[in-house]
Amino acid sequence: MTRFLTVFAAMALLAGGAQAAPLANQLFGAETAPSRQNPMPIGSYARGCGAGLVQLPESGPSWQAMRLSRHRNFGQPVMIDYIGDLSRVAQQIGWGGLYVGDISQPRGGPMTSGHASHQIGLDADIWMLPPKRLNLTRAEREKISSIPVRSADQRSVTGNWTPAHRALMKAAASDPRVDRIFVAAAVKIEMCKTATRKDRDWLQKIRPIAGHDTHFHVRLKCPKGASLCQTQTPTVKELSKGGNGCDDTLMWWVTDYLNPPKKGAVPPPDPDTPRKKGPREFTMADLPNQCTAVLSAR
Ligand SMILES: [Zn+2]
Repeated sequence: MTRFLTVFAAMALLAGGAQAAPLANQLFGAETAPSRQNPMPIGSYARGCGAGLVQLPESGPSWQAMRLSRHRNFGQPVMIDYIGDLSRVAQQIGWGGLYVGDISQPRGGPMTSGHASHQIGLDADIWMLPPKRLNLTRAEREKISSIPVRSADQRSVTGNWTPAHRALMKAAASDPRVDRIFVAAAVKIEMCKTATRKDRDWLQKIRPIAGHDTHFHVRLKCPKGASLCQTQTPTVKELSKGGNGCDDTLMWWVTDYLNPPKKGAVPPPDPDTPRKKGPREFTMADLPNQCTAVLSAR
């Protein structure tokens, strides 16, 4: 509520010609086309912007972009390639393709709603709903919802979770372009259970997080030579101490996270945990300098 009031107040001030700096969330949210610049992720996943982003075509041979009204089907070229490749894998495992949720705004940057990250064109949400068809109309893409694969008590997967989901997530995580994938803990717990001894290294890249039960969130590494892109630390290797993360830190999500023990007994929270829900407000001064040029490029 406070957030909406603050945004509203900022807009009202602007309309009145007052001196308040416009929020970067509003400025980037208003852009409808990418900047004509060389592709470059600028800053970090949760504080930055994207130069030269590319639009994921609204429909392709093996995907459809959902919620087109949000203008969030833009990403770095490497992300657009990755989605094309993963959607072909999806077809090989028996899905119709992929329904693709938010990537980034046309020029990336902070959003007015929904995500703390997705700011540099290297994050994408993939729906857990297996597509039945790839000719959804714009209106259908606004209306249809994905399906939860996690139970309401957050402890296990539901009947919506299938071996094909597992195969898709394994393929998604095994791609060398991927830095990490966020998904509800119950999903990782299930995949840890069913993974064989010899085939579980890919689980290192799957990171438990709050929410993420109707989609999984793919985060790509900074592309080679992307000098303005900030690599995320700690790495997944560091987070899992070189293992696959099928350990106590994972089980914490279905024990202490859901039923916090008395004070003093709480383990340190997972560094991947978002500090608060939704996006925070940024002014342009909070973002890397180069984002001003991204915003003004025509
Ligand atoms: Zn996401």
